[in-house]
Amino acid sequence: MVDYIIIGGGISGLSAALHLNRGGKRVLILEATSRIGGRMKTDMVDGFRLDRGFQVYLDAYPEGKQVLDYKALKLKKFTSGAKLFLPDGTIDVFVDPLKHPKYLFSSLGSRVGDLSDKLNLYALSRRLAKSRNRSIFKKENRTTLEVLKEYGFSDDMVNYFLQPFYAGIFLESNLRTSRRMFDFVLKMFKKGSGTIPAMGMEEIPKQIASQLPEGSIKTQVKCVSIDGLTANTKDGTQYKAREGVIIATENPTFLGKSGKLPDKLPAASTTCLYFSSERAPYKEGLIGLFSHEDRIVNNMAVMTNVSKDYAPSGQSLFSLSLRSQNMEKDKIIEAVKQDISPWIPASVTNEWKFIKSYDIEHALPNQAKVSYDLDIKTAKLADGLYVCGDYMLQGSINGALRSGRQLAEHLLTAH
Ligand SMILES: Cc1cc2nc3c(=O)[nH]c(=O)nc-3n(C[C@H](O)[C@H](O)[C@H](O)COP(=O)(O)OP(=O)(O)OC[C@H]3O[C@@H](n4cnc5c(N)ncnc54)[C@H](O)[C@@H]3O)c2cc1C
Repeated sequence: MVDYIIIGGGISGLSAALHLNRGGKRVLILEATSRIGGRMKTDMVDGFRLDRGFQVYLDAYPEGKQVLDYKALKLKKFTSGAKLFLPDGTIDVFVDPLKHPKYLFSSLGSRVGDLSDKLNLYALSRRLAKSRNRSIFKKENRTTLEVLKEYGFSDDMVNYFLQPFYAGIFLESNLRTSRRMFDFVLKMFKKGSGTIPAMGMEEIPKQIASQLPEGSIKTQVKCVSIDGLTANTKDGTQYKAREGVIIATENPTFLGKSGKLPDKLPAASTTCLYFSSERAPYKEGLIGLFSHEDRIVNNMAVMTNVSKDYAPSGQSLFSLSLRSQNMEKDKIIEAVKQDISPWIPASVTNEWKFIKSYDIEHALPNQAKVSYDLDIKTAKLADGLYVCGDYMLQGSINGALRSGRQLAEHLLTAH
């Protein structure tokens, strides 16, 4: 019999399992789908690596540093900044010239944001880089949009850079996400870079899983109920634990609603389309941002500009992340091409080959309120029954890893 059963093989469950195992406990992860990784999966389609929704790993994340071997992951960095597809049909760049001096003149000359915006952003990110994460997460949970105005950024800077950039991270356009996340993410970008593992985001959960003893993970095992220290699965099998059962699923309402858990629904959703072409839409390792009103596409990323391994040789792979999910499937490709046609004309998009799209209903928990530390009283549902997951702290890889680690550390001291 194992000491702990963990239901859900996303990175929060993997993190809990790893830290419990490092503390000498025997663990068993029960994962409903055919492989671990949860929301961090990479599908191979005709030689292309498609992350299930565009996402990046920030290499300054403090939790990742404790469990990941960056060298083995072969992390590839995005250039810090963005390529701006502006509403007037022009294209500009906004890049951190301190990290990428070759962009000094183009960035200073960027029409988005005046000099005071650029100095303001620089001073703010430096200040945040020096502040402790715990202090950032003690600030009042106000909306990011409110705070951007208070920070004194101009409307152009907000509308053409900060809003689409953070909408792409928070997966919501109104920037209702807590300002704690804005500050934390800006700090992470200042201290490091947005990256992807050379072979896809799924390499991250795979690397954590590889540190667990053989036999610690069972896939295609869907848990349907829990009685005390026994997890009952869909096929009728029962798994028993000696010390505890941890629910590490994406949805806090799993197994019936518990009034104790933070209500993080409705979750943020997104749609991500992948295309390939022999000619990349642009050459830089920059995230592309669209900012015209009523846009369909919020951001694009040419994955092969950052990691060549994402596509067969001679091909470029790029993703377009949409603001809305409510699009008719047969019209979506044409609508998307039409939406970006002022900058990328039909003569170019006609060469694009559509590969696949992902609709992700539950991409991130609602982040109007986020926290830094796991409240163990909330995470303990009953004697021997616990929860962890990104929704307990913040919707990020760091938040998910941290919730699993903090729960494990509590259990290790309690038992
Ligand atoms: C499109 C997208 C973009 C993102 N962008 C970023 C980004 O740029 N940077 C960043 O830091 N974070 C990003 N995130 C967030 C990050 O991926 C998540 O916060 C993190 O992966 C959540 O991990 P988790 O373990 O909490 O949940 P999950 O990964 O959802 O894991 C839950 C697991 O539980 C399993 N499960 C559910 N029910 C059962 C059951 N009954 N029995 C057994 N197993 C079950 C599921 O199959 C799943 O594997 C993004 C997420 C998405 C989807």
